[in-house]
Amino acid sequence: MSAPPGPRPPAVDRLLGAEGMAELEERFGHQAVRDAARSELAALGEAYRRGQLTAEAASLPALVEALSRRLEARHRPRVQRLFNLTGTVLHTNLGRALLPDAAVEAVVQAARYPLNLEFDLADGRRGDRDSLVEPLLCELTGAEAATVVNNNAAAVLLALSALGAGREGVISRGELVEIGGAFRIPDIMAQAGVTLREVGTTNRTHPHDYASALGEQTGLIARVHPSNYRIEGFTRSVPTEELARLARCHGVPLVEDLGSGSLVDLSHYGLPREPLVQESLIAGADVVTFSGDKLLGGPQAGVIVGRRDLIERIKRHPLKRALRMDKLNLAALEAVLGLYRDPDRLAERLTTLALLARPAQSIRAQAERLAPRLAAWLGKDWQVEVADAQGMIGSGAQPVARLPGAALCLTPNAPRRDAGGKLAALAERLRSLPIPVIGRIEAGALWLDLRQLDDEAAFLYQLAAAQAPHPAAEGVDNA
Ligand SMILES: *Cc1c(COP(=O)(O)O)cnc(C)c1O
Repeated sequence: MSAPPGPRPPAVDRLLGAEGMAELEERFGHQAVRDAARSELAALGEAYRRGQLTAEAASLPALVEALSRRLEARHRPRVQRLFNLTGTVLHTNLGRALLPDAAVEAVVQAARYPLNLEFDLADGRRGDRDSLVEPLLCELTGAEAATVVNNNAAAVLLALSALGAGREGVISRGELVEIGGAFRIPDIMAQAGVTLREVGTTNRTHPHDYASALGEQTGLIARVHPSNYRIEGFTRSVPTEELARLARCHGVPLVEDLGSGSLVDLSHYGLPREPLVQESLIAGADVVTFSGDKLLGGPQAGVIVGRRDLIERIKRHPLKRALRMDKLNLAALEAVLGLYRDPDRLAERLTTLALLARPAQSIRAQAERLAPRLAAWLGKDWQVEVADAQGMIGSGAQPVARLPGAALCLTPNAPRRDAGGKLAALAERLRSLPIPVIGRIEAGALWLDLRQLDDEAAFLYQLAAAQAPHPAAEGVDNA
């Protein structure tokens, strides 16, 4: 069999000794470069055997370049910062709440140095990690006791397991919600070993529905804030006070999952009101659970507050250890809670609240500023308009409420039948920028809601540095 015509791939040692390879080794390490070189040469060998290897592709500079690209792609972090221009502030897929500076600093300290995670500095003995945030949680919510776990789903599972396993959990049919993914209240109840005892109907549940279900077998009454949907019209639910009274009469706890929950009245900041944790406790809920990274504006966490004896039972449950919070999130949570001690400055300091409360005119002014820059970048094939936009809180909080703001609305100058492809291509192009830009496609346009565009300079810089999607684009500022 004769050798195929054309150039042969170089030997691996020749490639490893080529110009530019030392720099790659410096960056990625000897092992990674060697492995990548072998893979690259194996691919060339394939092309060679098929007679498809060109002299250009087999040249050392081209190979070094290809290797560099291969290594870059392989070693690029998969966790990437991005611009969330979807209009949804607490976007579960994009990381929910953004930590305020105070919390970021606390995380860095906790990550870098040893800390008193489970160590009592006063007496030099073993401590309890909950005690780092428990007093603050009690101060802010008025609860007797508190504990924290990994997220609110864990908080609900743990509270139900510790307080209701082997008995019945009474809950309204209007509250058997699915939060998303695999979190459905009936499944969580089953997982916790609590027998679901549904009462009432989807739209109406009365006090006597609960009363007639309560008995020997009852372990707890559960209430779940139907965060991500609204039932409107002919509805009735039992107020927490009344439910708490019923629970007390029967000697069972009322456990309320608030979902987002909030520690401040959001209407003070021009936002729709969410139920307050304090109010639930005052109304008589025995245990209340809520998320750390929704409206609270903190790290992923599940907070459980309430009656001391019940919190003690929750803390002693074996699941508590499996669901415990990590030190970085604990440090962040303490810092975020600390900001709530000064409600007057909360909107300036708590990033999530600042974003939610950002005035529409400020967003619109930013959109007016950016529209010509984006129009120049996109070129003559696109229309760029400043449009009113309706943002959302996200993460199930106030699903029907809208946050008035402004967006850059990008429409292709193309026949309708081609518009979809052009929009998808532009969306992909924006996603492939060094800091990916995530907008949303709606009504024949790509919308970039600017509510969350805080780093305008970085946004513009990377547009200028990136090639425009249209070759005939004019006036691009390549500074
Ligand atoms: C979001 C939510 C949960 C889950 O909270 P995570 O912190 O995401 O685990 C549970 N219950 C309700 C009502 C929610 O809205």
